[in-house]
Amino acid sequence: MLACIPTASLFGVDADPVTLEVQVHSGLPCTTVVGGPDATCREAKERVRAAFASCRFEWPNKRVTINLSPAWQKKRGSAIGLAMAVGVLLASEQLPAASIVGYSFLGELGLDGAVRPVVGVVPLAEAAGGDPLVVPAGQVVDAELARGRVVGVAHLADLVRALKGEAPWPLPRADRPVRRRPPGPDLSDVRGQALARAALEAAAAGGHHLLLTGPPGGGKTMLAERLPGLLPTLSPSEALEVTKIHSAAGTLPNGSGLIDSPPYESPHTTASAVALIGGGSSQLRPGAISLAHRGVLFLDELGEHRPVVLDCLRQPLEEGVIRIHRAVGSATLPARFLLVAAMNPCPCGEGGASRCRCQPGERLRYARRLSGPLLDRFDLRLHVPRADPEELLGEAAGESTAAVAARVAAARQRAAGRGMSVNALVPGSRLDELAPLDRAARRLLAGLLARGGLSARGLHRVRRVALTLADLEGVDPPLTEQHVGTALGLRAELATLQAAS
Ligand SMILES: [Zn+2]
Repeated sequence: MLACIPTASLFGVDADPVTLEVQVHSGLPCTTVVGGPDATCREAKERVRAAFASCRFEWPNKRVTINLSPAWQKKRGSAIGLAMAVGVLLASEQLPAASIVGYSFLGELGLDGAVRPVVGVVPLAEAAGGDPLVVPAGQVVDAELARGRVVGVAHLADLVRALKGEAPWPLPRADRPVRRRPPGPDLSDVRGQALARAALEAAAAGGHHLLLTGPPGGGKTMLAERLPGLLPTLSPSEALEVTKIHSAAGTLPNGSGLIDSPPYESPHTTASAVALIGGGSSQLRPGAISLAHRGVLFLDELGEHRPVVLDCLRQPLEEGVIRIHRAVGSATLPARFLLVAAMNPCPCGEGGASRCRCQPGERLRYARRLSGPLLDRFDLRLHVPRADPEELLGEAAGESTAAVAARVAAARQRAAGRGMSVNALVPGSRLDELAPLDRAARRLLAGLLARGGLSARGLHRVRRVALTLADLEGVDPPLTEQHVGTALGLRAELATLQAAS
């Protein structure tokens, strides 16, 4: 008898529907899995056999062929275990075929028959056909994000009893927990640092990448941590997209529901290329740049990251996706993040003529570690000095995250009115139309271009930031000399940043 069970297999941040076919026919007793299984898929049959023994089901004493269709697609992971068990039960007539009509199954089986959680349940649930979908008990809330009717089971024996109608399905939880992540740190904790706060606000409003340099203790990390709070809450479709990525990476705790606030990722300087960019030898797992999709990627000590790893950032910064090609396959993963990077002015970290212990040559080499093209991606570059003690001890708290976020939301609304999600993505060819300059602003920029103080690409970036500043003020273009001047002030050259230290 032939059994066909719908399930799914994960690759990258997406999953593909898989039909698992089981046939039991006469011949020497043996079990084969065909149809492009990876090692974990092939091992699943051993787990299923052991689970059968634990649940007192009978493994057919015949030839069992398990086919994963379509055969040209590689199947990965252990999530097909539950479907495999149901398929063998059906093909060996221990379960009536009518009992599973419409169902699809996802879950890893333990040797004792327990149904264990799977990595990537959200994209898997989206891809698996069938209605209802059976998933591990702890992952019902997550699977429901992607599709309608979902039931959870904790054990293979429970599943079989429920399918046969001998016992009721486990009751769905009456309360659907709304999980809000606790709010991040508030911007009002940052005292002083007026220019850095303005840059942070512009970064949030216009989606401009931000580079902060300065000595330790200036509050660079403190500023970066407060950026996600300034970004708008994710729309339902964005939230599902982000949740799928975190589910596929295995970083989403079971039952945690939708991620509706912009994520924040800060990989350590020792992070490998795979950890940062994504990849891996069997599964293509998303890296930090994909986990930061629609949120903030903070790279502290930018100069300490390996240059070859940093160079991998150029494509996602330009295109919003990362294409990964490995022996196991190729995938395009989303990676549209806001990059905030911090670096010390020099190797000793102190900067400044009086404190720095570095040789001039050392300082130069340190600055050269970063490639020009990467530095060029930062629309906003500024020096963050150590805060003035007077301001730190002063009574006046800074403006709160809520107040700044409201201005950011209004500015983004104006950009949306022009058909752009954020100003950082305005194409150069449309700047004349969307970000026209008044006469004084034009003169200021023409002077800089003539003196070689600004490249053509730099000019575009300054105009985009100036447009964001106008949006934050709530005024329509043409951009004034003041907008352009402020934008230029927020885009210091690296040499200037070091001199300021
Ligand atoms: Zn130094």
